[in-house]
Amino acid sequence: GYGTAAAIENPTTPSVQVNYTQLLINGSFVDSASGYVIAHVAEADAEDIDRAVSASRKAFDEGPWPRMTAYERSMVLFRFADLIDKHTEELATLETWDNGKTYEQAANIELPMISRLIRYYAGWADKIHGLTVPADSPHHVQTIHEPIGVAGQIIPWNFPLLMFSWKIGPALACGNTVVLKTAEQTPLSALYAAKLLHEAGLPPGVLNVVSGFGPTAGSALCRHKQVDKLAFTGSTQTGKTVLELAAKSNLKPVTLELGGKSPFIICKDADVDQAVELAHFALFFNQGQCCCAGSRTYVHESVYDEFLEKAKARALNRRVGDPFKAGIEQGPQVDSEQFEKILRYIRSGIESGATLEAGGERIGSKGYYIQPTVFSNVKEDMLIAKDEIFGPVQAILKFKDIDEVIRRANGSGYGLAAAVFTQDIDTANTLSRALKVGTVWVNCYNVFDAAVPFGGYKMSGQGREKGIYSLSNYLQVKAVVTPLKNAAW
Ligand code: NAD
Repeated sequence: GYGTAAAIENPTTPSVQVNYTQLLINGSFVDSASGYVIAHVAEADAEDIDRAVSASRKAFDEGPWPRMTAYERSMVLFRFADLIDKHTEELATLETWDNGKTYEQAANIELPMISRLIRYYAGWADKIHGLTVPADSPHHVQTIHEPIGVAGQIIPWNFPLLMFSWKIGPALACGNTVVLKTAEQTPLSALYAAKLLHEAGLPPGVLNVVSGFGPTAGSALCRHKQVDKLAFTGSTQTGKTVLELAAKSNLKPVTLELGGKSPFIICKDADVDQAVELAHFALFFNQGQCCCAGSRTYVHESVYDEFLEKAKARALNRRVGDPFKAGIEQGPQVDSEQFEKILRYIRSGIESGATLEAGGERIGSKGYYIQPTVFSNVKEDMLIAKDEIFGPVQAILKFKDIDEVIRRANGSGYGLAAAVFTQDIDTANTLSRALKVGTVWVNCYNVFDAAVPFGGYKMSGQGREKGIYSLSNYLQVKAVVTPLKNAAW
């Protein structure tokens, strides 16, 4: 016969190991020129998503997580935050390896933000409670804030561990269980962090982390009928798919944090040197791979020439190189796909008539390094002013007056963030209120405190993450109504 099912279910494991996986060139095993293998990672498909969801379902329905006291849940998260601080070096190294961001950024900026955010939500766990509501009749009315259940969470590759913490922090603090899918480009740090969370006392099944691709594992998670809520961060296009899959399966509520094309507005009375430095930071931070990158730099005509000259000089001075080396500001882009896409946008900028002031090309022939690039004379109808490039490409536009810049800034389908640079309080107030975006930074950029909500207007998303606002994404409100007998009401 052809063998038995038992033989297929229990395959032989040969004792010979796979030793050679590199390229054999000129007698030696070498890494490929475009990079080297960091690790091989298990790939989840629909069946694995089903296993993870079942574990999460069981952990929610049978406990102990939602039945533990809120204080006990809070203490698990506090211990987790301490372990993150203790393992900063390992976590930051994995993050740099996976993503290409500088080690200094991962270790000194992101990891402290992550443990701080986990402590913020640990603090919330035992402060979530309902209300006693006055009724028009003799009834005792109370609201109970309950966890929703199994949360499916999908995160992108640009801030793998930060996005992991924004997602699991509020979900776990509120007593939910989680199945989280990392981005296929960056699976390593979340797995390490999840192991630390178990060391901190998280019961099995409460957090399940799966590595896998979007159309397979991601889509299976979105379609799953045993998933009660979805949270997604990534591109606007995928966000639409996620919403559709949720609607077509069991109408699970969805929160979305999507793309942006954020205006950075420098008014005539701005401190130009400060504006140049912050506009540079707003765009080039994280290799330009930020959903809230300040990617439309609007400069008032009276300071335009001075700004342009200084912005160009700053870009030319940016230190690009090995992200593990000290003092490096910019590492490689995350992968060949993003690298090629950015170079296509640079070509499109040149072809559409913008002026290339700095950069424009790859650096060297190994790795996905791109020169810090600056375009001037950019117009709104050019692709580089409309699309999210997600790379180190600054687009500078000139404006004349405030009403005009409000109209142009709001002319985008996105509405994630904006910056306003001015010394004048009235200009700051006018612009802050007129801009249709989820965050306005006045004379600053990329301030991401745990308590400050973040999210988008228009096609930049639905719902808010961080702060008190994120809790409502992970809670159901139940009204309990009881007749009052013989009681004064
Ligand atoms: P993406 O939206 O395709 O990927 C984000 C996450 O969604 C990943 O985990 C991916 O596996 C998953 N995913 C993809 N297709 C899916 C599907 N059909 N069902 C369920 N999950 C799915 O983004 P990308 O391809 O990594 O990047 C493309 C562009 O998205 C970037 O160039 C950038 O413009 C934008 N982006 C935005 C953010 C952000 O924070 N807003 C982050 C990353 C990328």
